[in-house]
Amino acid sequence: MKITDVTLTLFKWENIPIVYHMGGAGSSSPEVQMGLVTIHTDEGVEGHSFLGASMRGANLDGLTLIEKLKPCCIGQNPLNREHIYREMWRRNRHTTLRCIGAIDVALWDLGGKIANMPVHQLLGTYRQSIPTYASSPTHKDIATYIDEAQAIKAQGFPGYKIHPPTPWERDLKCVEAVRKAVGDDYMLMLDSAWGYNYKQAVKVGRAIEELNYHWYEDPLGADDITHYTELREKLDIQIIATEYSWGGLEAYVPWLLMKATDALRGDVAVKGGITPCVKAAHLAEAFGMNYEVHHGGNSLNNWANLNVIMHIRNTEMFEVILPDGAQKYGIIDDLKIDKNGHIAAPTAPGLGAKIDFDLIKKKTVAVIR
Ligand SMILES: [Mg+2]
Repeated sequence: MKITDVTLTLFKWENIPIVYHMGGAGSSSPEVQMGLVTIHTDEGVEGHSFLGASMRGANLDGLTLIEKLKPCCIGQNPLNREHIYREMWRRNRHTTLRCIGAIDVALWDLGGKIANMPVHQLLGTYRQSIPTYASSPTHKDIATYIDEAQAIKAQGFPGYKIHPPTPWERDLKCVEAVRKAVGDDYMLMLDSAWGYNYKQAVKVGRAIEELNYHWYEDPLGADDITHYTELREKLDIQIIATEYSWGGLEAYVPWLLMKATDALRGDVAVKGGITPCVKAAHLAEAFGMNYEVHHGGNSLNNWANLNVIMHIRNTEMFEVILPDGAQKYGIIDDLKIDKNGHIAAPTAPGLGAKIDFDLIKKKTVAVIR
């Protein structure tokens, strides 16, 4: 079998609610162009992935996917994922990790379809379901966090993660108010989205330890390994970093050797696909650590993340970022939690999602090849 073509279908996603992230530094757009990546083969079977998110249209990255990465695929056996990955990685400075990830995810989808099994089964299944948590955007008012946390608890999510309003003094008020609103035992996490310096991080960290928060995510700059090491020595709460630390598999090594984080983190969009996520998860396992999976930024990436999670032993939860209106698009019967707040393993071949091809056809802006 050979890859004969790679195409990127840009399609409109309209009426997206505006939500803010990173203390207001990022936001969704009311309308973006999403991308359907299709890997075509000489035997007719196809692999798919989505490029883009409500915060970042596929048109921004997509031209480099076609110009720089498509040549790594044409004429190759689509099952030679490691070889294709190596060739794509060698070109990482000429494209983005999101594009490398989109091709890699589509290759895994194709591999699962060829094998007639879900991707997690192809990798080797560890589990059949996973608990979830809901993750807030950045809100302006603490009252909004309180309402959202209570609603999420009532919906049956096992946990709620705060992306706080900033600055740190307000964050202290926010974490306290939310704890009070949901009771002492409900699982809460704080993701400060690289918002603090070391002293601020210690103050907020001590407060959430007292408030029985489950983990403390990305309090310091994404690459500030030395301060993460100091912070981790100072605090008892689990510190989770590396979601957006730069680089490939080797870039995790100093975090591990310097004991700068309690878990590794990433997802198929920001780390470049299923292939590097699985490698990083296995690397973490060797150090007795978890690999906690970040949300994927679009519907199909979340199905890809879910397949990784069903394969790896060392992970705890699936992240559902809020609200659905800015996260879910282009899938029929998208992921939902069950009555226990879990999400079940995909059962259909490949990623296991049903892509809404009719919708994509209606909303198509251009096909790039
Ligand atoms: Mg995060």
